[in-house]
Amino acid sequence: MTHSLDPEDAAGFRRAAHELLDACLDRLEGARDHPWQPVPGSVKAGYRLDGDDTGQGEAALARRLASDVLPHGTGNTHPRFFGWVHGTGLASGLLSEMVAATMNANLGGRDHGAVYIERAVIDWARGVFGFPEGASGVLVTGTSQATVIALAAARVCALGPQMRRTGQGAVRLTAYAGTGAHNAVKKALELLGIGADNLRAIPETDRGMDPVALRAAIAADRAAGARPFAVIGTAGSVGLGRFDDLRALADIARDEGLWLHVDGAFGAWARLAGDPWQGLVAGIERADSLACDFHKWMYVPYDCGLVLIRDETAHRAAFAARPSYLEGQDRGLAGGDPWFCDYGTDLSRGNRALRVWSALVAYGPERLGAAIADNCARAAQMGALVRADPHMRPMAPVISNLCVFTADARLSPEAQGDLNTRIAQELQLSGEAVFSTVTIDGITALRAAIANHRTRAEDVAQAIAAVARARDAG
Ligand SMILES: *Cc1c(COP(=O)(O)O)cnc(C)c1O
Repeated sequence: MTHSLDPEDAAGFRRAAHELLDACLDRLEGARDHPWQPVPGSVKAGYRLDGDDTGQGEAALARRLASDVLPHGTGNTHPRFFGWVHGTGLASGLLSEMVAATMNANLGGRDHGAVYIERAVIDWARGVFGFPEGASGVLVTGTSQATVIALAAARVCALGPQMRRTGQGAVRLTAYAGTGAHNAVKKALELLGIGADNLRAIPETDRGMDPVALRAAIAADRAAGARPFAVIGTAGSVGLGRFDDLRALADIARDEGLWLHVDGAFGAWARLAGDPWQGLVAGIERADSLACDFHKWMYVPYDCGLVLIRDETAHRAAFAARPSYLEGQDRGLAGGDPWFCDYGTDLSRGNRALRVWSALVAYGPERLGAAIADNCARAAQMGALVRADPHMRPMAPVISNLCVFTADARLSPEAQGDLNTRIAQELQLSGEAVFSTVTIDGITALRAAIANHRTRAEDVAQAIAAVARARDAG
């Protein structure tokens, strides 16, 4: 009985691995034929680890991965997946994940290749967003985690580094974001102990947060003895795809001495899409911190987000701390300062950077930016098809890659909500298209967020035709 966990039959493992790779390649090539479908009960039951299904060796595992796991994805690899804001994934990811698993690098710190890859990715992002040389960053699970890190740094910046020992005390910190800000902002303030009630929801229009209302809210809080600390701009709101005027917010943050954080989860990447889309994020280079995702509109495999912080000292002031067993050295594996564990919550960290680096090496920012621009064009096309239909109606202007509409504006708001919900469910189940829903002006509407590099003009036409058909059949 061997105690090794390496393959006992190296040649057999190699064969099984090659076959699995072929199954993955088949799936990737056939992505157009595989929409989301519900997971059969027998498959779900088969996932349980309480039977005789454990300890069967790698070859049996490879067969089960191909037959029982691979077919049951979220469907976001399919060209007519427009639900929520889901990235599609990239062929480069298949290669990078294979190498990352083989290397099994820990990117908490130290001196090894993967750390330099992550630094290269952060340097590149810093250049894209026009952050200064001295800016720092770290790759994280997603924008939710990036927001916690950014706002933690903002708080230490406002209250001083001693607050890491003493806590926040009796100070009442307040933050400001548009009504369409993502729930991740609220959650970050909850987790940091600042409290969601101290997030002011500033009224907004299609052009983002109202700057006059923002200034008034800050003044009212100061007058009431609170301590305003952060303005949170949104570049691409999740519901309607709105963009705050980041230049106006940067002016206000400067005048008021506040930290400007930007939630650019998907929308920040409009920066790569050329005109007119890049204009939506003008001013992003003036932010104190930026949270965004590679796994949405950069199509990089899950999970992969980024936080950038303008002032590295402020970033480190909130997170750096290393007990003696983690001390760095000037030579050997324990060298290689700075260590990413000093820039976020995690000590052990996986190789997310390789997903991004591989995408950039394979496709480059121009091709990725062109795909982003094309997604915007597809959303505009969808908006035009909605307007051309006698009964559909847009619920908001198409600003970038989001199109929100109702299938039948003749009905009462409640009946429209029921109809749109039914259509979303039916098209998901039939595999024709995935829309999600959002409630706006009291109407639950159909919502398409196109962050899908496989979507073509005919997919959009097909999806809207399917909506009309489902409506008329009801
Ligand atoms: C998706 C999203 C988030 C949350 O990001 P995750 O990567 O899912 O954690 C935050 N803000 C906006 C605008 C988003 O679209």
